[in-house]
Order: sequence, then structure tokens, then C-alpha cells
Amino acid sequence: MPKITDEVYYIPGQDEFMPDSHTYLLGKPSSQDLSLIDAGLTGKGNYKIQSILNAGFELKAIKRIIMTHTHLDHIGCLTEIQKQIPWAELWMHQLEADLLEQGDERAVYGMEMFRGFCEDQFGLKPGAFKFKVHRKLNGGEIFDLGDSAWEVLHIPGHSMGSIGLYHRPMKILIPGDVIYADYAIGRFDLYGANGPELKKSLMRLAELEVNILLPGHNQIVRGLPKGYILQTAKQWEAYLR
Ligand SMILES: [Zn+2]
Ligand SMILES: [Zn+2]
Repeated sequence: MPKITDEVYYIPGQDEFMPDSHTYLLGKPSSQDLSLIDAGLTGKGNYKIQSILNAGFELKAIKRIIMTHTHLDHIGCLTEIQKQIPWAELWMHQLEADLLEQGDERAVYGMEMFRGFCEDQFGLKPGAFKFKVHRKLNGGEIFDLGDSAWEVLHIPGHSMGSIGLYHRPMKILIPGDVIYADYAIGRFDLYGANGPELKKSLMRLAELEVNILLPGHNQIVRGLPKGYILQTAKQWEAYLR
């Protein structure tokens, strides 16, 4: 499990026929207060937990799981992980939390056709993604996560409850699926997505100083070029109306 900084560790997604989101572990190990960011695709829970153990972390130090959003490739193995760390709280944006608490899975699958495919593929039953959410986020919160301050940003557009986590002192941004390496952005055609909102979110991220970009998929970027987020937003502008 690669170390990004003293307070950020990285478990690469293990893509197969479908993408598996990256999982990040936040917090200084000495704090005994760690946070998992995103779970991953259905079936990947064991891989994620083993990666944490192999890196020498104790599961009991993991106090919470924070979801950047609740698409299947991020939340699919949440139940598997919760079985291993049942004490961990679940945090996510209120808009998607409200859906999941009611067992409304539209934000998980994004489209009906995909639901059918996934239920067949993984043997999932309707109602598999009903969760109790311990903390509903709105954006604007600043949390001390393992001796390290992280800001919550509500950045809708890829999904309605997408959040980013920003570590201002180290200029680290965890944007979920809103922006990736190589000038790519998240898709904006699924349930709850919205092109103009995605553009607004990108413009908001463009105002931040970001040195390390830790997206939900594909490469992570250290030494992000100045203006990268703005340039990405500009390249996609015409599609985001
Ligand atoms: Zn997504
Ligand atoms: Zn994703």
C-alpha cells in the first residue's frame, strides 16, 4: 500500500471488467484515528482489508468510512468492509445519505440498465444498498482526521452528493470522480448528474492550490501543474451546458 504523505495512504483500485475505485486511508498512524475514503467495487472488500493489514495498520484504528459519492464502484464492497470493522461510522453527503437510508438505489446504479446487469453479475438483490449513515455532510465542514485537518467540499455534477476532501496545508485534493489525471472528468449522464453543476464544481476546485491530486480512478498526480484544474474545466466547458 503506497504511502503518499505521513497522513495519506493509497490502495489502488483493482479494475476488472468493471472499475474498482481507489481507496485512501487518512490519518497519522500514531493518532490511532484513521479514516477510509471510499470502499470499492463489489467483491473487493477482502483485497482492501488485506492491503491495510499488510501495510501494518490495525483495523481497530479505523474510525470511519467517508464516501466521496455512492456509485457502485465506490460503495459496492462497503458491506464487506463493514463486516470487518463494524465499529466504523459511515459519513457521506446528505443528499446521497437520504437516498441510501430509504433503500433508494438510483444513485448507486446510476441507470436502470446497469442495475439489471450488476444484479445478475454480482448476485445482488434489490435493497442490498440500504445503509445507516452516522454523519450527513453538507460541505463546508472542517474535520480533524487523525491529527490532520480536512475540509469537505460539496462538488455536485458527477453525482448530486459528490464531495471532495481538501488538505490545505499539504495542498492535497481527493475529488472523487469529479476530476482525474490526463484532463479527464467524471461522466455526467447518470442519475443525479448535471453538466452545468459539474462545471461550477470544477471552477470551484480550480480556485484551490493543489499539489497532489488523488482521484477515484486511474493515475494519482504529484506535482500537479499550476492551472491544471482550470484548463481541464475549459476543455470540457462546451459539453457542460
Ligand atoms: Zn462515480
Ligand atoms: Zn468511480
